[in-house]
Amino acid sequence: MDDHQREIPGGGLFIRRGLIEEVGPMSELPKTADEVLDLKGHVVLPGLVNTHHHFYQTLTRAVPAAQDANLFNWLKTLYPIWARLTPHDIFTSTQTALAELALSGCTTASDHLYLFPNGSKLDDEIAAASEIGLRIHASRGSMSLGESKGGLPPDSVVDDEDSILKDSQRLIEKYHDPKLGSMVQIVLAPCSPFSVTTDLMKQSAKLAREYGVHLHTHLAETEDEEQFCLQKFGHRPVGYMQEVDWVGDDVWFAHAVWVNDEEIKVFAKHNCGVAHCPTSNMRLASGIAPIKEYRKAGVNVGLGVDGSASNDGSHLLAEVRNAMLLSRVKEGITGFSSSESPSPSGRGVRGEGEGQGVRALMTAREALYLGTRGGAAVLGRKDIGSLAPGKCADFFAVNLNKLGFAGMHDPVSAIVFGQPVNADYTVVGGKFIVKEGQLVTVDEHKLVEKHNKAAKRLLS
Ligand SMILES: [Zn+2]
Repeated sequence: MDDHQREIPGGGLFIRRGLIEEVGPMSELPKTADEVLDLKGHVVLPGLVNTHHHFYQTLTRAVPAAQDANLFNWLKTLYPIWARLTPHDIFTSTQTALAELALSGCTTASDHLYLFPNGSKLDDEIAAASEIGLRIHASRGSMSLGESKGGLPPDSVVDDEDSILKDSQRLIEKYHDPKLGSMVQIVLAPCSPFSVTTDLMKQSAKLAREYGVHLHTHLAETEDEEQFCLQKFGHRPVGYMQEVDWVGDDVWFAHAVWVNDEEIKVFAKHNCGVAHCPTSNMRLASGIAPIKEYRKAGVNVGLGVDGSASNDGSHLLAEVRNAMLLSRVKEGITGFSSSESPSPSGRGVRGEGEGQGVRALMTAREALYLGTRGGAAVLGRKDIGSLAPGKCADFFAVNLNKLGFAGMHDPVSAIVFGQPVNADYTVVGGKFIVKEGQLVTVDEHKLVEKHNKAAKRLLS
């Protein structure tokens, strides 16, 4: 994933003080090091970057009443359960989600926490993340538009705007680190157009820009939201974002499924990023985001697993696979255009009578690009997303000597085309988070036990 998209058979990395110093064939690397990790037979890739998640939702996966609902009904079913979350629950669910992510090759994750019931704080999440050892972009989410004001969430889970803004400022001042190799960055993230007032959107943008932190929200996830925005604000979702000054290279949107050609141009012109969450979009029957169109227009696209209650897992490598597969479903539905050049590693032929063309399908490498470089660009980071000198030593390795990879003829594509597997090694800043397939910074069995207790209590 470096600028030349190099793939180095028998290659290696030389790492010092958390940064990659050299990348190349083993014969060109230093002969000695304090520690040598022999990864013969593995494929080694830059750590995956997760651009959208709600860690706390690991506690409410596959809740029967929310299994077969669309977004708005799913939310209405779960809001009252989430209103019972405690600080301890935020801590535990963060560790569970990050442990799962680490096992799937993720090294940097953005989380969007927008409920703070019973004294919960973003600090609980940041403390949990620092124990696990993944880089985190912790989004200080918020909801201020309750049912009584025409919003979707019950009034019991929304907060007043003054306290939201004060807490946002406190968190930025306490934790935000924009430097090379940063482990924690703060993001301001009012939840969605249907749960936040116009004033809070504007105030959050102003505050974020005073401090140079990024902005994030859900946008154009479903057709319901489009109707809501037209009725309440007189704009489609993207037009509403322009109205509240939410466009720029410091803004990225989760989902952005329901957009038209003009709106894609708005994102491109202002360098807004998109967090594509294919599994969640399928799970909630939200639709298929126009990823190919975004990429063609020059919009940065990263991948996200989205909340664990709409996925219902946190496996980022599986998301890479689903991004590739879902984009191919879309190609199949919309038909192939004749204007596109075929790709040597994936081509689709148009149906009879539909024209002469073939068109490049999303390749495994392109999907991996979205999960690494794409995600880094969406989060505004230049120090992660590729294996190159000067970048953070964040990588994962998968042993290809496994049944599911038997007979694969391309080691890089194998981990996308093949069934999603766990990483054998995940390393962040030169430190092991996963070693020989096992989590090293947390006791997995104790965590599962603690997590299940908390999950049971929430629904009791
Ligand atoms: Zn989400």
